[in-house]
Amino acid sequence: MLQPPPAEPGMREEEVDTPALLLDLDAFEANLDAMARLLEGTGTRLRAHAKTHKSPVIARLQMARGAIGQCVQKVGEAEALAWGGVPDILVSNQVVGATKLARLAALARIARVAVCADDAAQVAGIAAAAEAAGVRIPVLVEIDCGAGRCGVEPGPDAVALAERIAASPHLRFGGLQSYHGSAQHRRTPGEREAAIAHAAAVTRRTVEQLRQRGLDCPIVGGAGTGTFALEAASGVYTEIQAGSYAFMDADYARNEAPPPFRQSLFVLATVMSRAIPGVAVVDAGHKAVAIDSGLPLVHDRPGLRYDSASDEHGKLLVEDGEAPQLGEKLRLVPGHCDPTVDRYDWYVGVRGGRVECLWPVAARGAMA
Ligand code: PLP
Ligand code: MN
Repeated sequence: MLQPPPAEPGMREEEVDTPALLLDLDAFEANLDAMARLLEGTGTRLRAHAKTHKSPVIARLQMARGAIGQCVQKVGEAEALAWGGVPDILVSNQVVGATKLARLAALARIARVAVCADDAAQVAGIAAAAEAAGVRIPVLVEIDCGAGRCGVEPGPDAVALAERIAASPHLRFGGLQSYHGSAQHRRTPGEREAAIAHAAAVTRRTVEQLRQRGLDCPIVGGAGTGTFALEAASGVYTEIQAGSYAFMDADYARNEAPPPFRQSLFVLATVMSRAIPGVAVVDAGHKAVAIDSGLPLVHDRPGLRYDSASDEHGKLLVEDGEAPQLGEKLRLVPGHCDPTVDRYDWYVGVRGGRVECLWPVAARGAMA
């Protein structure tokens, strides 16, 4: 059930009810501008990943600052964007099952919608759904460029699948999906460079083999916030799929030479108990902030450490300085931005200490 928003425009930040998903609008806008600047002149363009934000409002702000479209992982996210007016969407993932594919094909009537495949059976399913809906759907071949998650082998296997796509009257060959997920959080620049050098090499080889068979790649897509500068400089990628760059999180900040973006996303929490000396308990446990990539940090309060999370409690240790007051509001920096966003119905946009806007997390909880 959609909850009422925890704030109203004009309120002071301290008046926002908690836990709340706070977006620092100045930092967020600076991140969008920084990404546009960093990609300038590289020959690659941004197709920002909406798995992070799940919001057509944010998608359209990204597109107003140069993004050419959006990526999503799920049909439910594609629906939220297309119904919110986003015109160009790539499902950077496999979609399996007639029900989901029928939903995807229906969206192709109101937006440009493309999808990825790494198996001939998926291709047959997409073609059947496209035929039934009377649309033609671009399909990208996903290759395994080193992460070992999804994707066919680069080279001949990828070419064979591309030829199968190109042969269908209901599909179009859309290019290559080549995302190296596990490289994003490798801690040292050297490890990330090695991973993306490999990814770019196998991708380049596959693009050339496709060209020899008369197949051009309209899109060669991949990259995330941790490595996008490497893919952008490679000369082979045409689209960058970074998502977290808009918000950042504590785990990306732990990379050596971290991505050059500001922390714009916070969970606002209230101190609800300080009965035990040296301890302050906030109302944001792991149901309020994702902990799969580490515990949150307490923003701007170096003496406070978030020590452990239970369902609805976050236990802070007072390591230095004053303990926070009962009722005091603290900004937490999530360990991982994407799943944290998915826990909330509303973004509370703040600027200069005041609430400026409330944006729904439109694709929240989209299970499929
Ligand atoms: N592209 C794909 C296919 C992804 O799965 C992801 C995230 O997992 C991204 C891009 C964006 O990554 P990030 O949010 O780290 O920028
Ligand atoms: Mn993530």
